[in-house]
Amino acid sequence: MNATSASAETFADALLGFTIPARHARGRLVRLDKVLEEVLAAHAYPAPITHLLGEALVLAALMGGLLKGERAQMTMQAQTEGGIVRLLVCDYRAGAVRGYCDFDAERLAGLGANPTLAALFGEGYLAITFEPEGGRRYQGIVPLEGDSLAAACETYFSQSEQVPTLIRVASRAGAEGRLAAGLLIQHLPDGEEGRERLHVRMDHPDWEHVALLAGTISHEELLDPALSLEAIAWRLFHEEAEVRTYPAVPLSRGCRCSSAHYAAIIARFPPEQQAAMRNDEGIIAVDCAFCSRSFALAI
Ligand SMILES: [Zn+2]
Repeated sequence: MNATSASAETFADALLGFTIPARHARGRLVRLDKVLEEVLAAHAYPAPITHLLGEALVLAALMGGLLKGERAQMTMQAQTEGGIVRLLVCDYRAGAVRGYCDFDAERLAGLGANPTLAALFGEGYLAITFEPEGGRRYQGIVPLEGDSLAAACETYFSQSEQVPTLIRVASRAGAEGRLAAGLLIQHLPDGEEGRERLHVRMDHPDWEHVALLAGTISHEELLDPALSLEAIAWRLFHEEAEVRTYPAVPLSRGCRCSSAHYAAIIARFPPEQQAAMRNDEGIIAVDCAFCSRSFALAI
């Protein structure tokens, strides 16, 4: 194999992009360690929710990492009517991920340690929104079916973008905190304009070959802290003529909340509603759902 790599190997809190030119395939690998701990530290979530949010943050980085540019953003939002998890939101922008989950703690406690996706969400849907830098925003909505968030994201790519896509995500609680990782690979026989195609072809020989190799990835490999993301790509595709890896993007926990941001939102409310939000000291208190920071706005 002729591997082209421009950087040192990366192990965690990073996003690695690669392509297999002869197969018209592109991939992303993500592993979250300290960044995941930072996101989770802002909340006191029970184990099933930290597991879910870990997977969702990996998916946000995998999908957001498909976009180019510092201002491009990807948002995924899982929502249900009457589900135990009412809302799960994650987004990605320029290597920064953030997310939170709103759920019914009492009903969740009755589910046991490893609830299924259906038990958590009931009948729900997943909205995926891409906002490319300088491009047109596009959104797809798919039912929250299958046994994982990753499966629902695969459905999004096949239904909304007509791009065959394989996604694997693994998450586990270890001695030093939670670790989550994932692989995304997709077939773009018509280049980056692939999403304009009208029919998805899942049986293209190049895609069948690449999907077969990618599908051999195990949860243990994805989560093995001694195995670099580059090593995973090489291990999976070492028989290919060329695998091109790009410099890894460091990931961070990011939140764009600020006093100015909330002041601008509150300014849109009519004066009487703003008055109703003020406490006895004339302060409007706002908590950021993503990072749990509190803002005391004297406006
Ligand atoms: Zn925030």
